[in-house]
Amino acid sequence: MAGRKIVSGASSIALGLATGGAGNVALNLGKRLAVRKALENKKIITMAVAAFFLFWMMLFGLVVIAFMPGNDLTGSTDGFTGGEPTEFAFNTIPPELYDIYRKAQERYGVAWNVLAAINSIETDFGRNVKVSSKGAIGWMHFMPTTWSGWQNPNSKDDLNNPVFDKDPARIAQYGGYGVDADGDGVADPFSKSDAIFSAAYLLQKNEFQKNPEQAIYQYNHDYSYVKNVLNKAIAFASMIPIQGHTIWPVPDKFKEIISGFGPRLDPFGSGIMEMHRGIDIPVLIGTPVFTVADGEVIFAGIETGYGTCVQIKHEGYITLYAHLSEYLVRKGDRVTAGIPIALSGNTGKSEGPHLHFGVIVNNQFVDPLLIFNKS
Ligand SMILES: [Zn+2]
Repeated sequence: MAGRKIVSGASSIALGLATGGAGNVALNLGKRLAVRKALENKKIITMAVAAFFLFWMMLFGLVVIAFMPGNDLTGSTDGFTGGEPTEFAFNTIPPELYDIYRKAQERYGVAWNVLAAINSIETDFGRNVKVSSKGAIGWMHFMPTTWSGWQNPNSKDDLNNPVFDKDPARIAQYGGYGVDADGDGVADPFSKSDAIFSAAYLLQKNEFQKNPEQAIYQYNHDYSYVKNVLNKAIAFASMIPIQGHTIWPVPDKFKEIISGFGPRLDPFGSGIMEMHRGIDIPVLIGTPVFTVADGEVIFAGIETGYGTCVQIKHEGYITLYAHLSEYLVRKGDRVTAGIPIALSGNTGKSEGPHLHFGVIVNNQFVDPLLIFNKS
């Protein structure tokens, strides 16, 4: 799913550029003098060449991003890797488990926050490891035969007397998912490392990177369970819901960020530390501002502090574009990635022309760079 989505996204951008560009130029042509035609033709060729190169550059970029292993700030646009933990995650997840989730993510390419969500839902982070109502065992509630391998004679799914294999070699031979992560020679579903790594291994084998929902479904054949896991995962970290291609909200030449996401000293000199809930990209007033992904406009108007601003709801997250001079969309409009939705400005609490760009996941602002490739 990841790969296909990215490629089709890139071609639709290129298509949009090519048709939109050519259409406008053609319209102009009819109205202009012959002398100017030559110039226009040159423009068409330049634009076509530019669009062509842009297309391949973007395609290459997206493919590179798609195949990058789990990483943090560079951010895959398909977001199946966990982002930085949210405040909720800090308050909920026992700190000693982070390292295990992260290492499992590194080894198997499965988002750490999904592992944490499963761990939380199944056994309350190992606080309740009694046999489940279906006969699942250990830290991550594996069915004994899933752990040991279906045909493994040393294993039996039995509510009252579950039997499982602990020999990593034999488990592997029978195609079970149990692994020995802590290196003590046994694969033990009651060891937190072994159990969490085994869950990651199961999700990887079920193509988590292509389709997280289907992979989680293999864990527990119940779509409301899948939804619960994903909701919890999203509450723990920001990247899971962010799917589909995203594009930079202003023309590519404006890549500088003068103020990043996080605590900062109030730029108006009050001497107070404040939380900067987005990123500031300096642009000249009147620069087109693009929606970074497909979505629906949920706000276009004036808000204290933000000045003229637009908010767009995407699948799983909301983006906010502030300090604009003008908006070009209305509440309820459906928008596709890359179309201009506003012109930048210097309205609201702003100390100079720039775009303030924010991303909201589960009612919380998260670092927008988690969804972008910065380069
Ligand atoms: Zn800002």
